[in-house]
Amino acid sequence: MIISKQKEFDVILRNLKEEDIFIIGCGKCAKKLRVGGEPEVLQMKTKLEKAGKNIIGWTVLSSACYIRSWEEVLTQNPAIKKAHALLVMSCGGGISVISGFADIPAYPALDTESLGGTCCEETVKDQCGMCGDCIIWMYGGICPLSQCAKTLLNGPCGGAKDGKCEVDDRLCVWDAIFERLKKIGKLEYLDVLRAPRDHTRNRRSNV
Ligand code: SF4
Ligand code: SF4
Repeated sequence: MIISKQKEFDVILRNLKEEDIFIIGCGKCAKKLRVGGEPEVLQMKTKLEKAGKNIIGWTVLSSACYIRSWEEVLTQNPAIKKAHALLVMSCGGGISVISGFADIPAYPALDTESLGGTCCEETVKDQCGMCGDCIIWMYGGICPLSQCAKTLLNGPCGGAKDGKCEVDDRLCVWDAIFERLKKIGKLEYLDVLRAPRDHTRNRRSNV
């Protein structure tokens, strides 16, 4: 699941200079997180109308990052053709895909934060930083690249106070990594010195 949260309304309004707006929500992750499904799209519509915008239509696509054809979207939502801008309530993947099709500006209503998941009905964030070279098994399945504020691979920085990270307000992830490795009988993984990451493994594809 892609984890995203709504931008502050003032920020959305500041970006959105056009008057005639069509709002697009996403029926997958954004809907599940309650940041871009139908209720949130309707709330956004009301707020924008109160701010003086002309909302000429809205839709919630089944998945904003997977569009079979823009013609199909237009056929189902002909009002988009009258819009001067789109406000997209999806992750960065969704708005990128939509921007590639639309010939008008598309503005994000959400900020994409991390790759997460759902565990025991609870949404978990920062599970993966999509590095392209997965070594999570060395850390008992807890990724320091996405959960340590300094992305340290060879143990904690030593700055934690009372178990809390010195950079942000989360618990130091290295305590959790230690406990997990202990639990699964793999503490010896901590003895292995990791070389600096090979950043060519996550270079951007040209295709
Ligand atoms: S090591 Fe890389 S691919 Fe594996 S979970 Fe962490 S960020 Fe994601
Ligand atoms: S306190 Fe822990 S989580 Fe925070 S930067 Fe240092 S090692 Fe990483």
